[in-house]
Amino acid sequence: ATPTAITVGMGRAAREGVLFKTATHLENTATLNTVVFDKTGTLTEGKPSLTRVVALKGSEDEVLRLAASVDQHSDHPLARAIVEGAQAKNLPLLEASGFQNISGFGVEARLEGGTVRVGNVDLMLRASIPLQNTARMAEEASLQGETVMYVARGQHLIGLLGVSDQVRPEARRAVQELHRLGIKTVMLTGDSEHTARAVARQVGIDQVIAGVKPDQKRGRIQDLLHKDRKVAMVGDGINDAPALATATVGIAIGTGTDVAIETAGVVLLQDNPAAVPVAIRLARAVKGKIV
Ligand code: ADP
Ligand code: MG
Repeated sequence: ATPTAITVGMGRAAREGVLFKTATHLENTATLNTVVFDKTGTLTEGKPSLTRVVALKGSEDEVLRLAASVDQHSDHPLARAIVEGAQAKNLPLLEASGFQNISGFGVEARLEGGTVRVGNVDLMLRASIPLQNTARMAEEASLQGETVMYVARGQHLIGLLGVSDQVRPEARRAVQELHRLGIKTVMLTGDSEHTARAVARQVGIDQVIAGVKPDQKRGRIQDLLHKDRKVAMVGDGINDAPALATATVGIAIGTGTDVAIETAGVVLLQDNPAAVPVAIRLARAVKGKIV
């Protein structure tokens, strides 16, 4: 493409809400054949709400109250959903000490009566907490797209929580558009396989890579690059920055964290995944490929 075409293309892209940081980023965008999306906050609204409380021991209110007492110290979107769920029921929270966030697993803190842990199945396994007969319950919730969290006190599992995050209405259209452009779509998430698949089905995503710890996201992008794919990573979180930096093109959602925006080569000015196919179409047009 000529320098003039690139300048014009970058200007036009900016008016459509797509900021290419350099000409090279625009040229790389024209070569993409795979787009990887982070799930939470990118394909979904990122504002989860509590939809399920199961008590295995004691009452549902007690399970929720204990979980919220730990998660009041976390700023994770899942934590907010749990705390808001407890507030909606006017459950008074307890004091917690020694709060710890275990990235990719969950949280724990000491409460009266022992350590309370809230998180995924791996958090329970690493603390050697038996899962009892919860597999079917967890599966039922996750098949509906809910994120399942386990709540344990001491060495005992006391309940399960389900949280739902609405799929962004524009996400489905964005994925359809990408498929029309011949692009393969992938979801990359720390959430469980069942939950991820349920959401992927709603959005129409081709491939799911689930159960990925924050420090593994980058490696999964490298795997795709080694298969000779030209990969865009679309994300918003601090967790996503290494993956954004590794991809052929990193695309940050404009309302994302500062780290994501700084790391990405392309920034979507609006909080809307529909700008991803717009960016690719424009980049291809500038490169002289008629689309
Ligand atoms: P994502 O890839 O969706 O951003 P994370 O890597 O942040 O997910 O978290 C992975 C999993 O760890 C969550 O699905 C949840 O089960 C658990 N988890 C993480 N943080 C918390 C928290 N503050 N409270 C409860 N569970 C949590
Ligand atoms: Mg995330």
